[in-house]
Amino acid sequence: MKKIMIDLDDTICQGGYLEILNDYFNTNYTYDDLDDYYVESLVPDGKLDEYLDYFYSGKVNVYDYSKPLPDAIEVIEKLSKVYDIYICSAYVDRRRVRGSGVMALFKHDWIIRNLPFIDPKKIILTGSKELVSCDIKIDDKFSNLKGCSDIKLLLDAYHNRDYDDDKLKSRNVRRVKSWREIEDILLDENVIGE
Ligand SMILES: [Mg+2]
Repeated sequence: MKKIMIDLDDTICQGGYLEILNDYFNTNYTYDDLDDYYVESLVPDGKLDEYLDYFYSGKVNVYDYSKPLPDAIEVIEKLSKVYDIYICSAYVDRRRVRGSGVMALFKHDWIIRNLPFIDPKKIILTGSKELVSCDIKIDDKFSNLKGCSDIKLLLDAYHNRDYDDDKLKSRNVRRVKSWREIEDILLDENVIGE
């Protein structure tokens, strides 16, 4: 079976980061207010340290607010019948190296609860996704699609729209807008069976 590496945040599930920030600062930002990858760009000046202490305190779990993207779970379950699936997510925040360990626990819990058909030994929590070598990669972050995979799918997101078609093509990356589109591409017999 071919191996697929699938990212977690903004690829399988979404939400939480902005909701927690809004709760903490009593603000009403939406994802339209963001052009940066990290929602912390919306933290008021001088408050970032305090906010990161709170975020990584273990008292708040971003995955309690997070929801699967439409069709993601159903399509991944179908793919798991014909592909060897690895869920790969980065959890280390260099600004809070010690505190960010709690994210590994939260991610692990979300994955085993929501993707029970994935072998728990195929959960890769890391800071070095580029070391993972596989046939197919699915991620919303362009820089995570480096390496020599045959198929690289970039899930469309507010923070990756600056990469135009030429740039994607030069790196052999294809932009996809939904999990139904991923299903159509990867459940093609020619792609499965090579
Ligand atoms: Mg992601």
